[in-house]
Amino acid sequence: MEPPLSEVFGRFFLPGPTEVHPDVLQAQARALIGHRGPAIKELMGELQTGLKDVFRTESPVMISTSSATGLMEAAVRNGARSRVLSLVNGAFSARFADIARACGLEVDTLDVEWGQALSPDAVRDRLSGGDYDAVTVVHSETSTGALNPLADISRAVRESDDVVLLVDSVTGVGGVEVLSDEWQLDFVLTGSQKALALPPGLAFGVASERLMERSKTATRKGVYFDLELFAKQLDNLQTPTTPAVSLLYALAEQLRRISAEGMVSRWARHRTMAERCEQWVATMRAEHGVGLSVLAPEGARSPTVTCVALPEDVEGPSVVAGVKERGFVIGGGYGKLKSTTFRIGHMGDHSPEELEAVLEALEEVLT
Ligand SMILES: *Cc1c(COP(=O)(O)O)cnc(C)c1O
Repeated sequence: MEPPLSEVFGRFFLPGPTEVHPDVLQAQARALIGHRGPAIKELMGELQTGLKDVFRTESPVMISTSSATGLMEAAVRNGARSRVLSLVNGAFSARFADIARACGLEVDTLDVEWGQALSPDAVRDRLSGGDYDAVTVVHSETSTGALNPLADISRAVRESDDVVLLVDSVTGVGGVEVLSDEWQLDFVLTGSQKALALPPGLAFGVASERLMERSKTATRKGVYFDLELFAKQLDNLQTPTTPAVSLLYALAEQLRRISAEGMVSRWARHRTMAERCEQWVATMRAEHGVGLSVLAPEGARSPTVTCVALPEDVEGPSVVAGVKERGFVIGGGYGKLKSTTFRIGHMGDHSPEELEAVLEALEEVLT
């Protein structure tokens, strides 16, 4: 028989999906309700309060029954007109550019090496030379552990007239400070299974008034990801189509847990875990002579995921396998970083104490 859920928690450090707390998993085991009656409105009302706090916004938070990629597509379909500048510093930001291309938009990329963060000045320069109407950016690049300076990038984008900023903060929102209103983000989205530590299957997004204006005249937004429909139904505390109701129960429970912790403490807990990973890498070098390094440069590291570069003679997949033998799951390197790195996802509900255990296992594997 499988051990009880409460006994296995604390061993699963993938950078998404994230480990889900047993209380949140169990919250799904409730009878279903219809998606047009008073019961859903009551539930949605409660969810809005919690989600607005998470996103730091006064605007309604759209809830999509899709993975995060669905709302990445919604962002470009509703928000971009014809020419997009995609900021690319890893696999997910490259995907954002691909999505925009697949939606028929003309896309240029501003690339920096994987692992690095984008500079607001470079963004400003590129925008002043082109007639772009939208910029895509990934806040926390889960493939490399790099964190882009989102507030500063937003400020740089707003210096150009009529350019909207579309933000994937899938491993940001809920784990890293994201001030949607204060930073004037035109669309910011996340998925359920990353920093919010819910089961996969939902995505959340907040749109600015500017973006909703764009949506009104967008010609290729289709039906499922028409943000006007989301906004219209949200006015009535409902969703355009049947939502994944059981996941909404999980969300309600998780928002209660998040509210009890407080967003500021939550951000701090993630930052503490990232700093502990950095410190561990330094100790591995200094005391054990293992040539590890954190891929992203200091000052541009995500609090929710650490990507560790390995010395030449150690293969990423063998580290992941060694840790697995000791009962822990970590992330392998992503895409072209597969053999040279591994990733520790320390987002969601993980604690610094649990992180110690996986670092101990890693130390055994690497020494
Ligand atoms: C996981 C992830 C995605 C894709 O999310 P899905 O839920 O699989 O669609 C997009 N962007 C980032 C930064 C991610 O970490």
